[in-house]
Order: sequence, then structure tokens, then C-alpha cells
Amino acid sequence: MKSSRIPGIYKLPPVERLKVIAKETGLSADDVGQLIAGLAVEQADRMAENVIGTFQVPLGVATNFIIDGLELAVPMATEEPSVIAAASNGARMAREGGGFVTSSTGPVMRAQIQAVGIADPFGARQEILNHKDELIKAANEKDPMLVKFGGGVKDIEAYVIESRVGTMVVAHLIVDCRDAMGANAVNTMAESLAPRIEQITGGRVYLRIISNLADLRLARAKAVFKAQEIGGAEVVDGIIQAAALAEVDPYRAATHNKGIMNGVTAVVLATGNDTRAVEAGAHAYASMRGRYTSLTRYEKNKDGDLVGSIEMPVAVGLVGGATRVHPVAKTVVKILGLKSADHLSRIIACVGLAQNFAALRALASEGIQRGHMTLHAKNVAVQAGARCDLVEMVAARMAAERRINVDRAAEILKELEK
Ligand code: NAD
Repeated sequence: MKSSRIPGIYKLPPVERLKVIAKETGLSADDVGQLIAGLAVEQADRMAENVIGTFQVPLGVATNFIIDGLELAVPMATEEPSVIAAASNGARMAREGGGFVTSSTGPVMRAQIQAVGIADPFGARQEILNHKDELIKAANEKDPMLVKFGGGVKDIEAYVIESRVGTMVVAHLIVDCRDAMGANAVNTMAESLAPRIEQITGGRVYLRIISNLADLRLARAKAVFKAQEIGGAEVVDGIIQAAALAEVDPYRAATHNKGIMNGVTAVVLATGNDTRAVEAGAHAYASMRGRYTSLTRYEKNKDGDLVGSIEMPVAVGLVGGATRVHPVAKTVVKILGLKSADHLSRIIACVGLAQNFAALRALASEGIQRGHMTLHAKNVAVQAGARCDLVEMVAARMAAERRINVDRAAEILKELEK
């Protein structure tokens, strides 16, 4: 797109917003139709079990992103007010510093094969490594398609693990999943190797499954937030103070990372990917050094500007899962102009950083509740029975009075309806 800076988009009605995004990103009439029609119950019935309906969540676009020099509007699916506005706001403040710069480790996952009841676990571990080439070849034969695209098992690791019920040997298949999230792919490979691992180790294999701690599938993003753009030196210092607490205090880190996941999960969901897989990976990665910590870091550079960075596992795909099945996800993939699963993972890291920065900035300056509650006021107005134009009017009055609750909404509504 030419520019993701679309001032006033928030003032348009949804259908006009969609027109702007469709024009900017070159969506066809079919793409737009798919997005509007959403998921039909017949399609849903093929995706999950005992389906009785579909559950809808708002889909918005975060504007203002520049990622690796390219302008991007990012679709986000979330039920929480103020998340999309905050991501757009964070991205806007990164623009002066050139936007986000990303990198990644590539789309590599691990599968675990657990062997127990082994008399000589250290010897068995070495035997697994001695048979590495044979095991890699056998696993790759299970997924010629993945191999054709340049993926497949690249390595095998093996660990001896002491547990409450005895010593185990756990083999890890290191699999390049290319554009797949990869869980089904690597699980199939791991299952196929189980009998051979039993022969090699003399033990019994139980678990054969992916690890969601995707520490070989890291996405990174960095942005410079100019001090004058974000409210001055005091705000820079305030954000660094807040982030420093999250680095060392798990109570704060959990909330800090929840804010990151507000953005991350919304894009994961909008693209039809597995939100739980990404969330499990993020929190496990945040604990990897023995203590739960934050997924972002903030520093002041020599010019006094704020440098924010994020590194986290983002196991998402473009093939498999719901991405190629869900009609809205298919259109979202087009809006994002995705080239690969790796590309998507890097965009997701940027949204996580933008989201986190916006929350920290609000906390370090005016406090988070004002902006949040203004948006929340609309929900409260609806709860009190407001409809159509009255929703905005009731919400605006409550926000101005800073009294946002259902009772007050009902009183205002009564007055306006007189
Ligand atoms: P999948 O098996 O549907 O698709 C992957 C397959 O697509 C590959 O094995 C390959 O054969 C083929 N393929 C075609 N083009 C490709 C390309 N360009 N790059 C890579 N592969 C290509 O899906 P998947 O990604 O293996 O599994 C994802 C699903 O597994 C998700 O729905 C997830 O929710 C689910 N799942 C997750 C877990 C977990 O996270 N613990 C466990 C089980 C299942």
C-alpha cells in the first residue's frame, strides 16, 4: 500500500473503512465479499466438532505500520476495546524513527519423542545420535511435500532427563516447517519414528509430539521512538522504569506480556492461526532463563530516544490449520500481502512491540484507564440499552464526566430519550 497512515479512518463507518482498505491493498470484489460473508455454519462444521453456530469477534485494522520500509495496515481480531487503537498509536509513533525493523531465525520447530525404561540412558542417547542420518531420512519420507518446499527434518538432538518416575531419553526432531505452523507435520514424523527409536534405545516410547516452546522459530522487531514524538525525556525515562520492573518481577511481567499478546493474539486469530500455540510458546520462552520475564526490552540511545525491541517465538503458518479454510483469514492474508509464514511471524512481532509500547507510554504518562475507559464507555452504553446514535452520545457524556458505569449510562439515556 502507498501509505498506512490513514488519518480519520476511525471516523468512517465500517463499510467505508473496508472500501479504503480494499482500494489501498488491491482486494478483489470476491475478497471483500468473503470478508463480509464471514464463516458459514457449513464451513464451521467441517472445522470443529458438534458445531451449533459460529462465534464472531470484531475485525479491525491497525494503521500506521512501516515494517522493513513497507507501509502496512494490519488486520486484528479482538473483543477488547482500545487494543487496535493502541497498536495504531504505537505504530504512528515509530514512524518518525523509520518504523520497525525485523529479523527471524526461520520456521523451525521441535518434536519430542520420549523413551522410558532404558537400562543405559546415556548409551541410548548416543545410539540415537549415531543413527541420526537414518532417522532423518525415514522422517522426511513421511512428508515429501514439505521436503519439496525446502523443509523437513534438519537435525536430531537427544537428552537424558531425570524425572519423578525415572530416567528418560528424549529425542528432538528439528524440523524446518516452511510455510506450515507444522504441528501436524512434525507429529506425523515423530509418530513414524517411534518403533525405530524403541529398537535403537531398547526402551518404550510414549509421547511423540511437537514442543510449543518454539525457541528455534523466533521473530524479532526493533523500533526507535523519538523522544519528542512520544512526549519528551520524562516519558522515555518512565517507560524504561516500567520495563525494568517487568524484566525482574514476574507479577509485572505477566501483565506486560499480556499487553504484548493483546496485539499478537489478535493477528494470530485474524490469520486463522493457533492462538494457544503462540501463547504457550511466548510464555514458556519468557521463562527460559529460569525466571519469568518480559518479552520486550527498552533502552535510551545516545540521542535520548527510546529503543524498543522484542524477541519471541511465533509459530504461525499460511498453509494448513484454518488459514486456507476460513474465508475471513484468507482475505486477511491478502490484506497483509504475505510472502511466507516467516514474514507473518515478523509482522506479528512488530504488532506485539507497538502494542506494548503504546501501553507503557500511556502508563508512563497519563495512565491507561482514561483512553481505555473512553472506548469501554461504548460497551457500557450498549449494556444500559443505548442503540444507534445514542451509543456515541451516552459514551461521550460518561467519558467527559469520567463516570463510566451502567447506572450512569441508564440515567443519561433516560434524559436523552425524554
Ligand atoms: P497441515 O498438516 O494441515 O499442513 C502442513 C502440510 O502442508 C505439510 O506437512 C506439507 O506437506 C504441506 N505443505 C504444502 N505446502 C507447504 C509449504 N509451502 N510449506 C510447508 N508445508 C507445505 O498443518 P500443520 O501446519 O502441520 O499443523 C497445524 C495445525 O495443527 C493447526 O491447526 C494446529 O492448531 C494444530 N495442532 C497443534 C498442536 C500444538 O500446537 N501442540 C498439536 C496438534 C495439532
